[in-house]
Amino acid sequence: MDYISTRGGRPVSAAQAIVSGLAPDGGLYVPQSLPSFSLDEIASLAKLGYTGRAVEVLSRFLTDFTRGELTEYVGRAYAKSKFLPEAVAPVVPLGGDGAYILELFHGPTCAFKDFALQLLPLLLTASLKKTGVDKTVVILVATSGDTGKAALEGFAGVPGTKICVFYPDGGTSSIQRRQMTTQAGDNVMVFAAKGNFDDAQNGVKRIFTDAAFAKALSEHGYLLSSANSINWGRLVPQIVYYFSAYCELLNAGRIKAGDAIDVAVPTGNFGNILAAWFAKHSGLPIRRLICASNRNNVLTDFIKTGTYDRNRDFFLTTSPSMDILISSNLERLLYLLCGRDDGRVRGYMQSLAKTGSYTVEQDVLARLQAEFSAGCADDAQTAQTIRDIWEKTGYLCDTHTAVAVHVCEQARGGDKTPIVIASTASPFKFAASVLPAAFGVAPQGDDFAQLNTLSKASGLSAPDALAGLQGRKERFLTVVAPADMKQAVAGWLSLF
Ligand SMILES: *Cc1c(COP(=O)(O)O)cnc(C)c1O
Repeated sequence: MDYISTRGGRPVSAAQAIVSGLAPDGGLYVPQSLPSFSLDEIASLAKLGYTGRAVEVLSRFLTDFTRGELTEYVGRAYAKSKFLPEAVAPVVPLGGDGAYILELFHGPTCAFKDFALQLLPLLLTASLKKTGVDKTVVILVATSGDTGKAALEGFAGVPGTKICVFYPDGGTSSIQRRQMTTQAGDNVMVFAAKGNFDDAQNGVKRIFTDAAFAKALSEHGYLLSSANSINWGRLVPQIVYYFSAYCELLNAGRIKAGDAIDVAVPTGNFGNILAAWFAKHSGLPIRRLICASNRNNVLTDFIKTGTYDRNRDFFLTTSPSMDILISSNLERLLYLLCGRDDGRVRGYMQSLAKTGSYTVEQDVLARLQAEFSAGCADDAQTAQTIRDIWEKTGYLCDTHTAVAVHVCEQARGGDKTPIVIASTASPFKFAASVLPAAFGVAPQGDDFAQLNTLSKASGLSAPDALAGLQGRKERFLTVVAPADMKQAVAGWLSLF
């Protein structure tokens, strides 16, 4: 299976797409065709464990990797020592009316990004070999909080790689910052960037498209790549857990093979929900995809009206990993919905770059609305949802998940179609918001005091990955302006 840029050009192999991250024309790689899983095949996936399911699904997308390779990588990425030994991605009922939480936060950094970022370093280093690239790959990451740590954890100590993360200064939760600044390893670097996530992401994109810089890097034996969800190697592992969730519902007797489900996803860069779309178009019986946003509701407006307009205020919310106004992965969906018409996609993206907005044609809007619903929740609604769920069901969810639950309740009305809600982070990652929401307790003391208080109030234990940060020195304290990001990378790599 080959991959093609959303802005045109020649097809490349999966390995090449993974090595490049972004296509040379600035587009994103998408598969040229999609696999098609029959209901019988899905039923047989249900008999496998998570790693078995992952090998089956990945081998249909990454056809230039052998099953032996994929089996090895998946076994290492989702090892019992890294995720919950009982289940990598458990599905738990929320109340009794057909809503289910897909818990994606049991990996090493307590957010769903681990599913992709535990696997990506293995896929990437293999892809370098397959494409005959003999360079040290430099991963640049812009993060709204969770990608950064997950990428650091995935790439730390991986031979032949170096990784540099930019997070928005003051734009993450305190524990998220601490997770990154305490990262161990010789091949890692972390900077705070002034501004918000979009500024950091734009800064990284500028570095990627800087030909002179690429040349300087190349002369020093380096090659840039991305661990953001613009990289196909980030997206493809996420398709697996939607198949897995369906299998879990089959195995629990909640649905029969072929029954349709809905999926609700708290959305920022549009990667996670797009993975659900790929699962759907590879044969998984998904009916609707519900895109949930916080107060930065540019996607809600887009899905409702067909106009994407980033000319609006940016808000810091209690769900910081979704504080984004430019959802990069939407470009992939647009390409697929407009009949793979790269000319149209180039038009949208030029308009976005020039005016900050674009409007899709009626046919694209109709296809979008046939599959997607959208809604948003502000911080007050998010907090209320956390409290309601806790009081009614005894389930404690994080702020991002609560956004999705709120939107899902609104979108569903009395509908009883089973719905899988992606739970993207552990509530302990956002204790300062979850404590007052669920328990009316003002957060006091440092991060670790808050973890303790949340643990006592909920009766749940704080994940070791977070509690274990106590006493670890914050190694990286430098703050840079977006305009100086390139210089910061150059300095770190001793280029000039
Ligand atoms: C990254 C993230 C999101 C947004 O996911 P996208 O794939 O960027 O849409 C939502 N919730 C949490 C906790 C995240 O870390």
